[in-house]
Amino acid sequence: MPIPSIIAIDGPAASGKSTLGRRLADSLSYLFFDTGVMYRAVTWGSLQHGLEISDEAAVTSLAETAQIDVRPPSKEDGRACDVLLDGVDITWETRRADVEANVSPVSAYRDVRKALASQQRRIGLRGRVVMVGRDIGTVVLPEADLKIYLDASAPERASRRYKEILQRGGQADYDQVLAGVRSRDEIDSNRAFSPLRAAEDAVIIDSDKLSAEEVFAKVEALCR
Ligand code: C5P
Repeated sequence: MPIPSIIAIDGPAASGKSTLGRRLADSLSYLFFDTGVMYRAVTWGSLQHGLEISDEAAVTSLAETAQIDVRPPSKEDGRACDVLLDGVDITWETRRADVEANVSPVSAYRDVRKALASQQRRIGLRGRVVMVGRDIGTVVLPEADLKIYLDASAPERASRRYKEILQRGGQADYDQVLAGVRSRDEIDSNRAFSPLRAAEDAVIIDSDKLSAEEVFAKVEALCR
């Protein structure tokens, strides 16, 4: 069997999708594309322009007109990629708590999804890509050659995210991180358009009791 060319990895917040995707892309010399950064960029731009997040028309118009670029990392500061909005590097801005708190409502808007998913699909169809998100295997690239759905319990995911923030020198409260993860799960899973769910032909991996290394080994074995 040839190595899959289009690999989709979906799953809830902080399930380890990006860590897995980045590693897999490196090992196969594929493009790594984390679609979450696009929704984060639109959210950051909306907040920056003082838009009400509940103003669907205004947020959608920004998503349709903003130039979002996702490029290979230009700095070795822990970033997986550079995220640019209208030419400005906003990579770390997209990880801010206010972006995180507002990104799920933004990504529930149908036409925001339409604008971003069509760009993602165009890039994904070129192949040799590991694309990570919530709806890659179901909506963006249903023809993907390999679909992984990476899951873990909310407390486990919150604990990983909490440690990650502290490691980066930030401050966090575990209960708040857990509440944030649960709230994003709730909105992402219950939205009307492209809700978070595993594709019927996805391989489901529960990473609660697996290290990042073990998850990678499992998926690499599926590829080769
Ligand atoms: O993956 P990450 O946590 O960076 O994604 C941020 C948010 O973007 C998610 O909580 C979700 O609301 C949205 N998202 C999405 N569809 C994707 C990727 C991300 O709705 N394909």
